[in-house]
Amino acid sequence: MTVSRRNFLKLSAGAATVAAFGGLGVSLAPAVARAQLLKLNWAKRTTSICCYCAVGCGLIVCTSKDGQGRAINIEGDPDHPVNAGALCSKGASIWQLAENERRLNSPLYRAPYSNEWKPVSWDWALTEIAKRVKKTRDASLIARDAKGATVNRLETIGHIGSAALDNEECWTLQAVMRALGLVYIEHQARICHSSTVSALAESYGRGAMTNHWNDIANSDVVLVMGGNAAECHPISFKWVTEAMKRGAPLIHVDPRYTRTSAKADIYAKLRAGTDIAFLGGMMKYILDNELYFKEYVANYTNAAFVVDSGYSFRSGLFSGFNARAESYDQTKWAFKKDADGVPLRDPTFKNPRCVLNLMREHYKRYTVEAVSATTGTPKADILKVYETFCATGKPDKAATILYAMGWTQHTVGVQNIRAMSMIQLLLGNIGVAGGGVNALRGESNVQGSTDNSLLAQDLPGYMATPASHWQTLEAYNAANTPASNDPMSANWWSNKPKYLASLLKAMYPTASLDDAYNWLPKLDGDTKITEYMWLGLWDKIYNGKLNGLFVWGQNPACGGANAGKNREAMTKLDWMVNVNIFDNESGSFWRGPGMQPGKIKTEVFMLPCCVSVEKEGSVTNSGRWMQWRYAGPSPRPGTKPDGDIMLQLMEKIKDLYRAEGGALPHPVVNLNTVDWKNQHGEYDANKVARLINGYFLKDAEVGGRSFKKGQQVPGFAFLTADGSTCSGNWLYTGSYTDDGNMAARRDSTQTPEQAAIQLYPNWAWAWPANRRILYNRASVNAAGVPWDPKRAVIQWTGDKWAGDVPDGGWKPGEKHPFIMTQHGHAQLFGPGRVDGPFPEHYEPMEGPIKRHPFSGQLHNPVAYQIHSEEKAVADPRYPIVCTTYRMTEHWQTGLMTRHVGWLVEAEPQLFCEMSEELAAEKSIANGEKIRVYSLRGEVEAVAMVTKRIQPYIVQGKTVHLVGLPWQFGWHTPVDGGDSANLLSPSVGDPNTGIPETKAFMVNVMKIEGA
Ligand code: SF4
Repeated sequence: MTVSRRNFLKLSAGAATVAAFGGLGVSLAPAVARAQLLKLNWAKRTTSICCYCAVGCGLIVCTSKDGQGRAINIEGDPDHPVNAGALCSKGASIWQLAENERRLNSPLYRAPYSNEWKPVSWDWALTEIAKRVKKTRDASLIARDAKGATVNRLETIGHIGSAALDNEECWTLQAVMRALGLVYIEHQARICHSSTVSALAESYGRGAMTNHWNDIANSDVVLVMGGNAAECHPISFKWVTEAMKRGAPLIHVDPRYTRTSAKADIYAKLRAGTDIAFLGGMMKYILDNELYFKEYVANYTNAAFVVDSGYSFRSGLFSGFNARAESYDQTKWAFKKDADGVPLRDPTFKNPRCVLNLMREHYKRYTVEAVSATTGTPKADILKVYETFCATGKPDKAATILYAMGWTQHTVGVQNIRAMSMIQLLLGNIGVAGGGVNALRGESNVQGSTDNSLLAQDLPGYMATPASHWQTLEAYNAANTPASNDPMSANWWSNKPKYLASLLKAMYPTASLDDAYNWLPKLDGDTKITEYMWLGLWDKIYNGKLNGLFVWGQNPACGGANAGKNREAMTKLDWMVNVNIFDNESGSFWRGPGMQPGKIKTEVFMLPCCVSVEKEGSVTNSGRWMQWRYAGPSPRPGTKPDGDIMLQLMEKIKDLYRAEGGALPHPVVNLNTVDWKNQHGEYDANKVARLINGYFLKDAEVGGRSFKKGQQVPGFAFLTADGSTCSGNWLYTGSYTDDGNMAARRDSTQTPEQAAIQLYPNWAWAWPANRRILYNRASVNAAGVPWDPKRAVIQWTGDKWAGDVPDGGWKPGEKHPFIMTQHGHAQLFGPGRVDGPFPEHYEPMEGPIKRHPFSGQLHNPVAYQIHSEEKAVADPRYPIVCTTYRMTEHWQTGLMTRHVGWLVEAEPQLFCEMSEELAAEKSIANGEKIRVYSLRGEVEAVAMVTKRIQPYIVQGKTVHLVGLPWQFGWHTPVDGGDSANLLSPSVGDPNTGIPETKAFMVNVMKIEGA
C-alpha cells in the first residue's frame, strides 16, 4: 500500500470516525475486528519502543507485506508493562512521523556563501566529509601540550548529539569521535539531566533514576516538583494515578499551575529558581520535628560521620573559597579518620561535628518565614507539603519524588537534586519500593546515551576522561580508583581498572593496554571541566576556535541556551555535518532570520537518517530498562540508519589514513570496526550489543570459572584488568550473554513477591545486573528483614536473597548497603561537588531581587559564567521572571513533531502564559501578539492570559512570571514562532555546566497593530 497524502487523509478520517462514534452507542466492533484481521493478514508485526520520551512505551508496528513495505499502523503494545497499550499524543502519532512526506530523501550540500541546498549522493557526501575531517585533524591535532605531556587531542572539531540514537549507535559514535581525538563531545544529556547524574552519584553512588516507572504505584505519597509529569511524561502519570487510587496523595510544587497541579491533592506555587530554599526548609522541618528514620539514617548514611575542623560555612560561603579562581579547595571538606584510616562515626549524634548536627546548623536559617519570603509560596502551603511528605519517615511508609528540568536547569541544578536526595535519605525512602529519587528523562535514550558517554567528562560506564596529568594507564588507575580501609565497605569502584581495560580492548583489541590508553585524547588537567562542556564549547565556536562540527540528531539552534549565540557561532565554522530526519533550524542556520547567506562561509552537509521503527537496536528508559527495538519497514529510500552512516564515514577516514598517512594514524586505523558490521559490511546492532556486553579475548579463569575465547562475559564481576576481556561498557555486561539478548526479553512472569511490587524482572533487562530498584540493600535491616514486609524488595531467606537482584550479594550485615560509595554509606554530606557539601540557596544568575534572607551571597559563587555577557539582576528593564517548558504534543525543540500534522494542529504556535494581573498592567488581552525580550534576544508570541499563573509576593513585593514552551523554531511551521531559548542566558551549574534555562529575566510588550 502506498501511503500518499490522499491515503493519509483517508486513514486519518477513518481513525477519527472510530473515535467519534465510540461514545454514541454505535458499535464499531465488527469493523474494528476486521481491520485488526487485515493488519495481521497483510502486515508483518514488530515490536518497538517510542522514539520520544524516556518513559519507553512499547509499540507494535505493522508493516505492509506488499511491494512498498511501508508502515501501515503503529499502536501501543498491550503487553508492555509500562504503557499496557496506552500512548500519549506523540507516541500515537509515530506512524505519521515514519511515513512523512517531508522527510529528507537525499543528502544535501550547502556550499560556502551559497543560498541553496544541493542534493548530492551518499558516497560524495561521506567522502567529502572524511576529507575535511582528515584535513582539519592533520592540521591541528595536539600530540603534546606546552608542558610536554602527551595529550593526542583535537580541539578544532566538536561533536554534539544524540540521545535519539540507540545504545549501540551511541557507543559506536563515541568510539569514532574519541579515536579521532575529539574532546568536545556533548549531547542532549548535558542540557537536560547532567545535574541528575552528578547529584545522585554523589549522594548514592550511581547517577540514575533509583526506581522505575511501575514502582511509582507503590508510593504512599507522590511529590512532583520541578516537573510536569501529566503533560511531559504522560504515561508515567498512569502510575501516579495508580498510587492515588491506592490512597497516596499527590503533591505538586511548581511555578505554574499545570495539568499535574489539576490532578494534585496539594498544589503549592513556587518562584522559579528557589527550590533549595523550599527543600532546605523541609530538611529543617524534618530535623526539628525528629521525623527522620533514625536506624536508617544512623547506619546507612554518613549522618554519623565526624567532619574535620577544616570545614566551615560563613556568610553564604563554604571554607576553602578562592574568589579569584571562583572555586573551592575541596580538601577542606574532609572527614575525620581513625587510626586505621576509616571515617570516625558517632551514631549517638552527640558530637557537634557529626554530619547530622552540621546539617541542623546549616539549615536552621531556613525558617518557614524565610522560605516563604524567598519562594513566594504561602506559609500554609509550605507547611501542608512538609507535613504530608515528611510523614513517610517510618519503616512502613514510602514517598517518591518525580522531577525534571525544573530542577536540573539551574546554576544550582546539582544542589537542587542533592537537597531532595538528602531528604529521601532522612526519611529512609531510598532502596525501598515506592520510594527513590526519580528523574523524568526526556529523550527515548538519553539514559543510554549518558551511560555510553557522548559527553566530555567521562568514558562509557562513568569513568573519568583521561587528562594530561594521568600520562599512563597506571597513573590513571592510581588517581581514579578509590580505596577504603573499612572492611565493611564494598567500595565497588575499586574494580575500575578492570572496566577501563575492557573498554580499551573493545576499542583496540589488537593493541596493548598501554598503547590504547596512550591513544585516547587527554583533557588539559589545568582547565576547568566546564570549559569542555556545552556553554564552553559554544563560546569557543562563537570565538572562531573550531573549524568543524558534527551535529547529530540534535538542534542547538533552538535547544541550547542563548540560541542566537549558537546560530551566530555556526557562521564561524568552516564545515558542519548535520544528521537528522528533517531539515531543521541548525542545518539551515545560514538561511534563518537575520542571516545573510552570501556572507556565510560554512559548508554544511545534511545527512538524512532513518527513523527508529526502521532500524534495530536498544534504548534505555528512565528506569534503566534496556529495551530492544526491531526494524519494521526498511529505511525510507535515500536515508540510512545512523549506525551505517558512522561506520561508512569511519571506514572512509581509515582508508584515507591508510593511503596517505597523517597525524597520529594509529588510533584511527586500529579502531575495531570489525565488531560493528555483518558479513555484508552493514552496521550490525546485535554485534555491537555483544561487544558492549563484552566477550573473552582468550581462554581465561575468572572467579573460579573457566571461559573460552569468544564466550560472552556473563556479568561485570568477570571482567579483567589484564586484557583477557573486552567490554564496551561494564554497566551493560550481562545484557547480551551466551543465553542471548536479555534486552529483547518479553516475559512478564514473576514470583508473587515480585508481582506485589510490579518488578517484572524478566521483561527486558535493567542495568546494573538486571537490578530493578537500586540500593535495595537499604530496604532491609542488618538481619536482611525488610523494613516493610508488605512491600519487600529483597529479603534474606536464610541462605539466599529473594526478590530483586540484591545490590551486592553478600550475606546480611556483611557490607554497608551503598556499595558504590567509597565508605559504603549514602552521603548527606557530599564533599565531591565543587559548590559545597550541603545545598545552599542562591538566587538564579538573573533574578528580580538583590538580596535574600539566607546570606549575603546572592549567586552561586562558583557558577559557570562568561563575565563579558551582561546579566539582568533586579534590572527595571527586565522585571519579569521567565521560565520555559514542554508541552505534550511537541518533543524537545519540536524538530520532529513540528512536521507531524496531527500534533501541529493541536499546538501550532508559540504562546506566552501570563497572569491576568500582568496582562492588565501591560494592557495585553488574551490572544494578542506580544514581544518577549531579554538581554539576549526576542521572540513574538501569542499572549495566553490565564489564572494558571499568579503573581508572587517576594520580600513584600509583587513579582510576575511568564512561561513559554521552548519547542518552536522559525523553520516549521511557517509563522509558528521561534525558539524561547533566544532569550535564555549562557550561565550554568559549576559541576556539570548545565545551562540555567528555567529562570531568567525578560520583559513583554504588546505588538501594536499585529
Ligand atoms: S512520548 Fe513518552 S509517554 Fe508518550 S508514548 Fe512516547 S514514551 Fe510514552
